[in-house]
Amino acid sequence: MKRIGVLTSGGDAPGMNAAVRAVVRKAIYHGVEIYGVFGGYAGLISGNIRKLELGSVGDIIHRGGTFLYSARCEEFKTKEGQGKGIEQLKKHGIEGLVVIGGDGSYMGAKALTEHGFPCVGIPGTIDNDIPGTEFTIGFDTALNTVIDAIDKIRDTASSHDRTFVIEVMGRNAGDIALWAGLAGGAETILIPEDEYDMKEIASRLKKGHERGKKHSIIIVAEGVMSGYEFGKQLKEETDFDTRVTVLGHVQRGGTPTAFDRVLASRLGARAVELLMEGRGGRAVGIEKNQMVDYDIIEALAKKHTVDLNLYKLSKELSI
Ligand code: ADP
Repeated sequence: MKRIGVLTSGGDAPGMNAAVRAVVRKAIYHGVEIYGVFGGYAGLISGNIRKLELGSVGDIIHRGGTFLYSARCEEFKTKEGQGKGIEQLKKHGIEGLVVIGGDGSYMGAKALTEHGFPCVGIPGTIDNDIPGTEFTIGFDTALNTVIDAIDKIRDTASSHDRTFVIEVMGRNAGDIALWAGLAGGAETILIPEDEYDMKEIASRLKKGHERGKKHSIIIVAEGVMSGYEFGKQLKEETDFDTRVTVLGHVQRGGTPTAFDRVLASRLGARAVELLMEGRGGRAVGIEKNQMVDYDIIEALAKKHTVDLNLYKLSKELSI
């Protein structure tokens, strides 16, 4: 393979830049030309494609977001859109493509692979919800942002004897809520993967209150319900007033952590190796601290599961 492309797609995540940098530098190290596709699949269809040099990715390893820009593109879900994308790739002499993004972006990479164009997917999303990897790029940074917020809220909570509800991202996956809740010492963690019992939560909070606990912190993943809805339901069961914080998009931004930068560098380099070995149609990931790769179609057929042992532990430690 003499020339490859790279794009970022879907929701941005801190560490995507570090992944692009690794793809670019690894390719050039091995004498492969590298082209950046700007603006995700929309940029692919419109031909927003430029050659990248070593210097193009200087000074970005520590920046959140993605300098290649990202986009959502409905047209790419159609055969015509995908055909236009392949035409552009051929026009630029690109023989393989690295796609950095979430499961939607993987669907696009899968479609290209099915049309015979080799793609490798790199998991980039703060949600940690991609099958075929234990961690996705951006998750660790998002977690640290949430923990920082929990710690700050804990300071004010302990001064005021109040119940605080923090709504975090996670429509289908409770990873952010679970890991941040465990690391932040939350009393209750609500994740989309499990049922909740408001009566039981209320009774635990009341007991804590009776034995002199000054405050409670509850983490709700947005996929369960909004933080405000939780506050309303809790008020119906107890007389507790809650203070609700919705963290929203701050969870997407910020300087990537060392973990995310190293993960992104490893995954980016591995993706290039696979394309150079002529192994397209793969999704790279990390398991037990080793690089792994799966058939992208098989990877998508699997389901991401939240770590249930960790969930059990969080319950045991928050009595
Ligand atoms: P994420 O990659 O973060 O999950 P999205 O679900 O929005 O984000 O997907 C990003 C983009 O991937 C979409 O805007 C679309 O261009 C492309 N995509 C999503 N699903 C498909 C599909 N079934 N076929 C082809 N492309 C898709």
